[in-house]
Formats: sequence, C-alpha cells, structure tokens
Amino acid sequence: MPPSLPEKALNFAKAAAKYAASGCKNVSTDEYVRRLEICASCEKLDAKSMSCNECGCYVKLKCLWATENCKNWEKSACKPSGI
Ligand code: SF4
Repeated sequence: MPPSLPEKALNFAKAAAKYAASGCKNVSTDEYVRRLEICASCEKLDAKSMSCNECGCYVKLKCLWATENCKNWEKSACKPSGI
C-alpha cells in the first residue's frame, strides 16, 4: 500500500533536508539513467505520477539526489557500459 499523503510529505521533508545538508549533491548522468531504468521496470513505480509506492518519493528527484538510496538500485547488476 502506498504511503499516505502525510507520510509522503514527511518522507520528502526528510529527504530534502538530507540533500540540502549534503550541499545538494547529485549523482552522475550515467548513474541517474541507471537508477531511472531500474525504477521504470519496478513493480512499485506508479508510472502515472512517477512516484514510488514504497516510499512515496517522486522518482525523478529521488534518482538524481546522491543522498537517496533504494535496495533495488544496490542489488541491480545493470551498469552502463564503460563503468
Ligand atoms: S525507488 Fe526503488 S522501490 Fe521505488 S520505484 Fe524505484 S526501484 Fe522501485
């Protein structure tokens, strides 16, 4: 079941605070694309809103922010060629 609206707001506030504290660090373009591709094929993605039904995050931001993580990104063996 997706998080409620208050849970999503709290998750986003925590993620944004962590991102700001890091100096707004983003991942490389290759890593961003790799993460997005994993999200695109994930059963937890709500493709209509581009949000994750597990954490409620908007994945286009979640994938970009270096401070964000997902167990599915870690276990994926998919890496862009040349890395
Ligand atoms: S953040 Fe993780 S759980 Fe959510 S859609 Fe992306 S891969 Fe799936």
